[in-house]
Amino acid sequence: MQLQHHISLLPYNTFGIDVPAAHLAIITTPQHLHHISQLPQPVRILGGGSNILLTAPVPDVVLLNRLMGIELLHQDQDHVWLSVSAGELWHDLVLHAIGQGWGGIENLALIPGTVGAAPIQNIGAYGVEVCSTVESVTYWHLTDRNFVTLITPDCKFGYRDSIFKQELKGKVLITSVVFKLTKHPTFNTSYGAIEQELQQMNAPPSVQSIAQAVINIRTSKLPNPKITGNAGSFFKNPTISHTQYSQLLAQHAAMPHYPVGNGWVKIPAAWLIEQCGWKGYRKGDAGVHNKQALVLVNYGAATGNELWQLSSNIVDSVLQKFGIELEREVQVW
Ligand SMILES: Cc1cc2nc3c(=O)[nH]c(=O)nc-3n(C[C@H](O)[C@H](O)[C@H](O)COP(=O)(O)OP(=O)(O)OC[C@H]3O[C@@H](n4cnc5c(N)ncnc54)[C@H](O)[C@@H]3O)c2cc1C
Repeated sequence: MQLQHHISLLPYNTFGIDVPAAHLAIITTPQHLHHISQLPQPVRILGGGSNILLTAPVPDVVLLNRLMGIELLHQDQDHVWLSVSAGELWHDLVLHAIGQGWGGIENLALIPGTVGAAPIQNIGAYGVEVCSTVESVTYWHLTDRNFVTLITPDCKFGYRDSIFKQELKGKVLITSVVFKLTKHPTFNTSYGAIEQELQQMNAPPSVQSIAQAVINIRTSKLPNPKITGNAGSFFKNPTISHTQYSQLLAQHAAMPHYPVGNGWVKIPAAWLIEQCGWKGYRKGDAGVHNKQALVLVNYGAATGNELWQLSSNIVDSVLQKFGIELEREVQVW
C-alpha cells in the first residue's frame, strides 16, 4: 500500500472542495488492512466523498476504500444473498440487482457513494431504507486489528443512523456488506412521484421500471455533483412531539407532516428552510439549491467554511422561526 503526501482531496468529494490531505493511501485488498496500524495515526476513511463537507486541510492519513467485488453467496427459490465489497459503487450494485430482476433496492437507484458507506447512515429514498435488505456488515476494527461481522439487529439502524455513526464512529473500516434480495419483488411505488413517472413512461411496475422512474425523478430534481458541487440532503428531517406539532400548526396551518408513531411527527426540513426564505439563496459560490432547499450547493469556489457558515445561519433561522433545531446529515471534517 503506497502512501502519497500532500494530495488534493478535490477529486474525492462531491462538494468539490479543494483542501489537501497530509497523506493518502488507497485500500484495494484486504491485506492492506493489516498495514493500516503502521501508518501515522489517526486515519480517516473516505468512500465516494458524497456525504462529507471538508472545512480544513486534513492533517491525517486519508484511506480511500476501493475494495471491489460482488459475490453470490447463496440462493434459494425466493431469495439471493450477495456479499458486496465496500468499495463498489452503490448505484452499480443497484444496476447489477435490477439486471438480474432481483428486488429490494430499486428505489435506492442513483444514490452516489460506496456500498461500504450505505449502512453508515442507513441510506434511504422513496420510502425504502437500505437496512431492509442488509443481512450483515463486516468491518475491520482499526485498533483491535480484527474482522467483526454484525448481523442487522446489532447494527442499530435508525433514520439516517446506525451504530457506525455512533459507538463505532472512526473506529472501524467497513469491508463488505451481505444483502438479501428477493426474486419475487413487491413494489413500493406509493412514495413521491414514482406512480406518476411510471404512467408517463407508460411502464408497468418492475424493478427495472421503478429504478428508471427514480432515476428520472432524481435527475430532474437534484443537482448533478459533477456539475454543481453538493452532498445531497444537508440536513435530516426533524422529528418533533405531537404537542409541539399541534402548537406550530396553530401558526403554520400548511405545515406538512408525517406521523412516525408513539406521538412523534416528522416535518420535512426542506419546507422549514423554504419558509425561512433560503431556497435559491446564494452568497458568493455557496448557496441553497433553487429546486430543493435541503441541498446546499457549491457553485464553484465556495470553501467548506462558507458552506458550514451558511448551514449554521439556516439552523439559526429555523430555530428562531419554528423552535426546531435542524441536525446536519452530512459529516463535517
Ligand atoms: C446528489 C446526491 C444525492 C444523495 N441522495 C441521497 C439519498 O437519497 N439518500 C441518502 O441516504 N443519501 C443520499 N446522499 C448522501 C450519500 O450519497 C450517502 O450518504 C452515501 O452513502 C455516502 O457514501 P460515500 O461512499 O460517498 O461516503 P463518504 O462521503 O465517503 O463517507 C461518509 C462517512 O462515512 C465514512 N465511511 C465511508 N466509507 C466507510 C467505510 N467503508 N468504513 C467506515 N467508514 C466509512 C466516512 O469516514 C464518512 O464519515 C446523496 C448525496 C448526493 C451527492
